[in-house]
Amino acid sequence: MAAARLALALLLLLAVALARAARLYRPGEDPLAVLEAGTVRRALLNASAAWVVQFYSSSCGHCIGFAPTWRALAGDVRDWEPAIRIGVLDCGEEDNYETCKEYGIYYYPTFRYFKAFTKQFTTGENYKAGSDRELQTVRQMMIDFLQNHSQDSRPPACPPLDPVPSHDIATLFDKNNHHYTAIVFESNSSYVGREVILDLIQYENIVVKRALNSDKAFLEKLGITSIPSCYLIYPNGSHGLINILKPLRSFFSSYLKSLPGVRRKLLSQLPIPIKQNKEESTEIKQWKEFDKSKLYMADLESGLHYLLRVELATHKMLEGAELKTFKDFVTVIAKLFPGRQPVVKLLETLQEWLVSLPLDKIPYDAILDLVNNKMRISGIFLTNHVQWVGCQGSRPELRGYTCSLWKLFHTLTVQAAVRPKALINTGFEDNPQVVLQMMRRYIQHFFGCKACAQHFEEMAKESMDSVKTLDKAVLWLWEKHNVVNNRLAGDLSEDPKFPKVQWPTPDLCPACHEEIKGLHSWNEAQVLQFLKHHYNNENILYKYIEGQTDSSEAELGDVKEKKEKSSPRKPSGNKENNNLEQQNMLDPKSKVLDRLIANDGPVKERNKNAVESVIRKETKQFVSFLGIGFSNIDMSLCVVLYVASSLFLMIMYFFFRMRSRRWKMKYYRPFV
Ligand SMILES: Cc1cc2nc3c(=O)[nH]c(=O)nc-3n(C[C@H](O)[C@H](O)[C@H](O)COP(=O)(O)OP(=O)(O)OC[C@H]3O[C@@H](n4cnc5c(N)ncnc54)[C@H](O)[C@@H]3O)c2cc1C
Repeated sequence: MAAARLALALLLLLAVALARAARLYRPGEDPLAVLEAGTVRRALLNASAAWVVQFYSSSCGHCIGFAPTWRALAGDVRDWEPAIRIGVLDCGEEDNYETCKEYGIYYYPTFRYFKAFTKQFTTGENYKAGSDRELQTVRQMMIDFLQNHSQDSRPPACPPLDPVPSHDIATLFDKNNHHYTAIVFESNSSYVGREVILDLIQYENIVVKRALNSDKAFLEKLGITSIPSCYLIYPNGSHGLINILKPLRSFFSSYLKSLPGVRRKLLSQLPIPIKQNKEESTEIKQWKEFDKSKLYMADLESGLHYLLRVELATHKMLEGAELKTFKDFVTVIAKLFPGRQPVVKLLETLQEWLVSLPLDKIPYDAILDLVNNKMRISGIFLTNHVQWVGCQGSRPELRGYTCSLWKLFHTLTVQAAVRPKALINTGFEDNPQVVLQMMRRYIQHFFGCKACAQHFEEMAKESMDSVKTLDKAVLWLWEKHNVVNNRLAGDLSEDPKFPKVQWPTPDLCPACHEEIKGLHSWNEAQVLQFLKHHYNNENILYKYIEGQTDSSEAELGDVKEKKEKSSPRKPSGNKENNNLEQQNMLDPKSKVLDRLIANDGPVKERNKNAVESVIRKETKQFVSFLGIGFSNIDMSLCVVLYVASSLFLMIMYFFFRMRSRRWKMKYYRPFV
């Protein structure tokens, strides 16, 4: 019994430790502020310190690769906190989607500076374009940013960073101070003096200044022969050059911090609103068992949800090339997405709506309204949260969206190849590169990972134009994906549980692999056959998708549904669903169900669950009046008709009144 308890406790500890390790940055452990939707505004608005915030996405490989640098930087400038703080915000976290949109984050990682004492919401200042992201560069930019503050908005904890004018240096010696005064003599371009000043802002009994090496005679008098050098004036008025091994920031700072009487100030801690991450503290996501030889609709739908509601939604307005790319993307995906009927219908509705709009600019919010079905059009629906299955990572920041995006585009290339007629009347029917070119433009304009987009564009430029058939397009994407796999093998973004390999591996497709004179070679005909099977409808599993709460039930469901077409859905554990389920029983679903599933034979059965969940949502929107069911649309139409007929009656009334008055005037004969 005791052993069992101990094992349980150990398991719990292990689980908590794993969950802790789950995020790129850990609040309380990393020397930076982990901001969230609920805390970021409060932290940045009217703050007494400036901020530099990295908006990242946990699924972006470059962000994962950059995390050690950012952590090291935060540790390096920890003492600067009262003047400038380092923060991070994970835009890949569902709760933060809206916030990242508000801050206009298009790409990851994005670095923004926020001045102290900002009175109104601001999206911050961008990192200087073209600069590298080395620790030293970012640190120096933080200093430049602090110096850009006006006198009255400068963080109170930040001492003047400009050099003391040479005619004032002598006065520093005159004063009878009770503290040390250190003067770092340096060249104009050096940052050492400013770094040392900031390193010591949390220390008392010492003031650090910087001076330029322009007055050579004065330097000679002080015995300074090289720069940077640090000259120290003691509290008793004596002074001299300090002797250190290397003229480096760290040497100067640690020497000054260790002077007798110099100690850390007892600063009241800044009110940093760092909320414990929900997931880290309580929720440990359950691993979903999956079959790697299958394609999961949950991944494709989750990817589509993220793409439409998060990635694209960072663009407030679509116009020009972006709008064209979006329209073409929707046209192609509406025809080729091998999904459930409500999702396909949503894409088709979106496509028709876009075609019918003769606008050259569309605010993305209008598109979002349609994606979220604000108009309550019957039978359209797309899940609004992510559920990774074949794309789940062993840690939450790994895999996910980018994995689903690859899968989505592979699926589209295969669909175009196996159903070439699907694109008839779209203007793309004779274009073998249709999916590839559309992907290329999507990645260029919208993909959050800018560096990935650049790499992809280089590959596209090199050989995409040589693709002459739809089959070759399937192979082109496969080949280029393997190039990316090869480049990223061993990278920090690699999930140890899913190493980057040349795919498909021999266990998935033995016939794809051959050896020619002892050298590995691909059998491309077999690879094509394999891809056409792997990314095709019959290989898609509908396990774990919305409306299927119990996985085992769902798995069975795939098979069972085919046999028991009319068997009722088992109630889910969800309370809301239960209520809706009851409503369904009271309110026969026949018409809507028939309408939704009538037109597509093969997808009919597997769509049933999705359709039912749509119906459950729709049932909510019906109002019963005299025993007849009215939808919200019906009710709105009634109101419109009522208002229109009242207006018509009023107009008629005034018209006849005017006419009768005119008639009276005309035929009025006063008695004489
Ligand atoms: C266009 C694009 C460019 C990218 N460029 C970069 C980059 O430059 N740097 C970076 O760090 N990250 C980049 N990424 C992200 C990176 O490629 C992975 O998506 C991410 O690291 C997650 O990897 P993963 O293990 O889920 O497998 P992924 O590479 O995402 O693959 C997803 C799934 O596709 C299947 N698959 C794998 N290889 C192939 C293939 N050759 N053909 C068909 N199917 C295959 C497998 O089932 C695999 O699980 C890019 C993503 C995209 C969509």
